[in-house]
Amino acid sequence: PFTVAIVGRPNVGKSTLFNRLVGRKLAIVHDLPGITRDRREGRASLMGVDFLVVDTAGFEELGGDSIEARMRFQTDRAVEEADVALLLIDARAGVTPLDRHFADHLRKAKTPVILVANKCEGKAGAPGLYEAYGLGMGEPVPVSAEHGEGMYELFEALMPHAQKAGVVLDEEDEDEFPPFPDEAADAVAEDEAEPDPGRPLTMVIVGRPNVGKSTLGNQLLGEERLLTGPEAGLTRDAIGVEWTHAGRAVKLVDTAGLRRKANIYDAVEKLSVANTLESIRRAEVVVLVMDAAQILDKQDLTILRLIADEGRALVVAVNKWDVVENPQVALGRLRDRLETSAPQVKGVRTVTISALNGRGISQLMDAVVDSWAVWNRRIPTAQLNRWLAEVIERHPPPALPGGRRYKIRYITQVKARPPTFALFATKPDELPESYVRYLVNGLREAFDLKGVPIRLFVRGGR
Ligand code: GDP
Repeated sequence: PFTVAIVGRPNVGKSTLFNRLVGRKLAIVHDLPGITRDRREGRASLMGVDFLVVDTAGFEELGGDSIEARMRFQTDRAVEEADVALLLIDARAGVTPLDRHFADHLRKAKTPVILVANKCEGKAGAPGLYEAYGLGMGEPVPVSAEHGEGMYELFEALMPHAQKAGVVLDEEDEDEFPPFPDEAADAVAEDEAEPDPGRPLTMVIVGRPNVGKSTLGNQLLGEERLLTGPEAGLTRDAIGVEWTHAGRAVKLVDTAGLRRKANIYDAVEKLSVANTLESIRRAEVVVLVMDAAQILDKQDLTILRLIADEGRALVVAVNKWDVVENPQVALGRLRDRLETSAPQVKGVRTVTISALNGRGISQLMDAVVDSWAVWNRRIPTAQLNRWLAEVIERHPPPALPGGRRYKIRYITQVKARPPTFALFATKPDELPESYVRYLVNGLREAFDLKGVPIRLFVRGGR
């Protein structure tokens, strides 16, 4: 098998990295001929590539009197048999003379060496990482074995060696997967997604009857008029009204919908799902207005679902906050209810307002702009896969029937507006829905994608 040896001076974290790579799988321990010492080997897997890891920790006291001789002994045995060696240094301690000695010695070996700077969590490892360049062993791979960080980078560094050693990604579905996406792909995707910076973000106000949509619309336009002088900066066309908030052009569309009611029958007006859907489709950001006295009733949930299904950015405006008797209590209850009833848009921006007296309107607009930015966000492939490697580490997908491991290959963002991801995996149909949900929630947390629908498609080859 493709074999990776972990070498380095004592205390750099060799065993920790070994355990990290081998994970919960049992480490096979066997006798090394000729010596009484056990040597630890284990089967590991990174992003679907299987390999054998050999830990050289614990050999320090064998092979001679001088520390250099002992190092050489343990290193040479393992390195000789490996396809690639990971030379570990402790980035927090910096490069020591012993590290240098090691590097010089390994340079003479036939086995290729990858320099790995361990203990790089947080910023503690930064100085040591730069020093490591000075070893002349190429670019160091920053990792934190203890925290499981940098496993994707390690995978990337190992990949060419694995391929040279004849490792194919997966025997079963070799060549079926599209090539691993690279930065060029990110660049192309970015071009496509980047909205014209001069173009205004479009927003629409929806909600069931009498929650205060029209009042909010008037207040918004009135407020902006106050801020910018009479009618200045406010442009109106057939589609809507445009102004600037916090340096961002904003357009409120479907203002006709806000003025729809004009007679007494409006008091018993029913929610028109068809009209609401039409409105939602007109804009990028949807402001869902709710009545503070009646939060998240059935109709609100219906509208929430429409917004999520249409993939729009969402902000919840809880109106009539001026007549709420105990705002603190009400706010707590509101957050709870949103959390449990609207999992599709977890963490949705929620602003309490009074459309009548204008309180909270500016915060509402801030939330609209923020939410829009998140909706447009693109996450680089390397960042995504770094995250994926860690998440799978922490909580691997359940085994397939027969105990085979479920292999998740990589993830990439295929588009923004809303953030849409493709996860490449073997047997996409068999990845449980609960695991997909776990990944979606993880993405939302890790990349701060609050309050926008996230799409995640699991794909196999082809
Ligand atoms: P729409 O059907 O959603 O457009 O609702 P309207 O804007 O017509 O408002 C319905 C009723 O709620 C009207 O009587 C408004 O005066 C009242 N209303 C709207 N916003 C507020 C608010 O912030 N506080 C209070 N107390 N009443 C409001």
